[in-house]
Amino acid sequence: MIKIRLKRKKVPLNQAQMELSFQRPLEKDRNHHLGGRSFYFFDFDDNVAYLTTPIVIFNKKTGAERTMSSGEWASYHHTIGKEGPLKDYFIDYDDEHGTFRYFRDQKHTFIDKIVRKKQTFLSDIEKALQQADYSWKAPSWNCFYHATYNHRPISVITARGHQIETIQDGIDVIVRNGHLPHGPNYLSVYPVTNPEIRKQELNDPELKLSVADLKREAIRNSVEKAIEKYGNNPHHRFGMSDDDPKNVELITTEMKELKKIYPEMSFFVIQTFEDSYVKTEILEQKTRNAGKGKLQNLTKPSQPQLKLF
Ligand SMILES: [Mg+2]
Repeated sequence: MIKIRLKRKKVPLNQAQMELSFQRPLEKDRNHHLGGRSFYFFDFDDNVAYLTTPIVIFNKKTGAERTMSSGEWASYHHTIGKEGPLKDYFIDYDDEHGTFRYFRDQKHTFIDKIVRKKQTFLSDIEKALQQADYSWKAPSWNCFYHATYNHRPISVITARGHQIETIQDGIDVIVRNGHLPHGPNYLSVYPVTNPEIRKQELNDPELKLSVADLKREAIRNSVEKAIEKYGNNPHHRFGMSDDDPKNVELITTEMKELKKIYPEMSFFVIQTFEDSYVKTEILEQKTRNAGKGKLQNLTKPSQPQLKLF
């Protein structure tokens, strides 16, 4: 198979990044002295970055297409076909022609490969990077930067259904454009609606689980991978950020299960909103509000407002 590589771009680092390279020391994991690591799990769209990838829904009577942004999707998908302005629409799960076709890898023809046609994820990232920082850097961007800069183990757990390599290639585009100092220290990457990944890794042989359920599976797998790779240390800390309330609900449920299995480790869930966040620590019998705050000035990664934990 021909691997499409992007040309290396030489783009100067922005001012905030330059300050950072000179002034910012590497920070050790919070429980480093006890052998614990801090693991950062990120939803991607509207949490790390805002991309313009459209979601397409279909009119029940006419079949006409209507596009939605992923932000609109997060807020209204539960109403599609049921109530409100999206009552007369439906979701089509066909990977090639349906609602999420732009969130999957396209099958490229020989000619497409010759002309180096890109997967939409890569071209959407390139498009986003041409905009001002504040328009594409989403609420967890600074946290993603912080975790990458300090080599924290990172998992990307996204509803997208691309190949793992496509997600990594997309993040490489961000690195090559000077917005990250180097690639993340990946623990795992789960594009959870990729059919092969669903069947082989997420316990979904009949492709029946919802995105939120698939994310639950991906979190559990990532915690298990973390323990396999970094040892079973009671001082490990895990945090996952996501902007979709339904996902946050099931992430919290899964973290409660994990807390029962690994009671000494720490688990946090961070729900992000456009300009704020709510952080919850999962305790054995209950949850604890671990803080909330306003997010400002996402263009200055040297002062991350949102630290996961
Ligand atoms: Mg999201």
